Order: sequence, then C-alpha cells, then structure tokens
Amino acid sequence: MVSWRKEIPIKVIGFVWKAAQGRIASDAALSCRGVPVTSTACGRCGCLEDADHILVACPFAAQVRDQISQWCGVRLPPFNDVKSVLEFVKHWGRCPKQRRILNLVIYGMMWGLWIFRNERVFKTRNISVDWARDDIRSTVCFSVLIVVFYFRIPDVFVLPP
Ligand SMILES: [Zn+2]
Repeated sequence: MVSWRKEIPIKVIGFVWKAAQGRIASDAALSCRGVPVTSTACGRCGCLEDADHILVACPFAAQVRDQISQWCGVRLPPFNDVKSVLEFVKHWGRCPKQRRILNLVIYGMMWGLWIFRNERVFKTRNISVDWARDDIRSTVCFSVLIVVFYFRIPDVFVLPP
C-alpha cells in the first residue's frame, strides 16, 4: 500500500506507513496505550484526534489538501482516512512518472500536516491553511524538480510556482 520511492525520505515513508496503521503518537493512540493525555480532542475542531483525523479528516487537513490539489492541478476526491488517500495516489492517472510526483507531493503533505499539528500542540503555534500550503510546496518542490528533470517529464503535470 505504501509507496517505497527513493525520492521520498525514508523517515517520511516510515511515518506514513505507521499513520496508515494508526500507529503514530496521536493523543487518541497514546490514550489507547494507557499513556495519560490531557485530551483526545483535536485542538482545531474538537473531534477525536487520531492519525486519520490529523492527516485526512480534520477540516484543516481537508483545506490544505484542497490547496495542494489545486497547486498540482489534480482533482482529489473526498477522503476519510490515510489508507484511502494512499490507495488513490497509488493508482492515480495513466503516467507512472506523474503518479510518482503526485505520491511525492501527497507524502510530503502528510508529513507537513504532522509537523504542523506538533507545532500547534507543543509550541502553541497555530498555522494557517495558506502558510501550510506554502510550506509544503517549498518542502516538496526541490524533490519534484529533480524527478521532473531526471525523467524528462513533459509539462502535462503542471506545478505552478
Ligand atoms: Zn480537527
């Protein structure tokens, strides 16, 4: 289910794999393991804060995903969990090279959403959707360019600046 691609850092692949199993250190997962937590509610919307919520179902994650999908020019359907996002990008489109880039972007987005969540929880720093989009774009852009040049991917998959 998880894409093992050398352009995606191993720590990101490992994180997404754990997230798909619900095994990242969300407050809900920690509470299930008997670790005392202040609250299992999402600090943004109040819903149960598990991995699927942080990375996919939270309205904040959905808004960031919308922005990223506009940037890529790829229409993403609504998702409720990490597994369905990974399944979608794994089979998306007809060009394996473009799919590879989309996977890179989506993995980078999930990693970013986790970093932003931790900034909010541990540094009480609330990040806006626009800031999140720009940060994810700048994080994945370099890797995307390398893949584009390496494989000489035509301009079909347009990533506007
Ligand atoms: Zn939420």
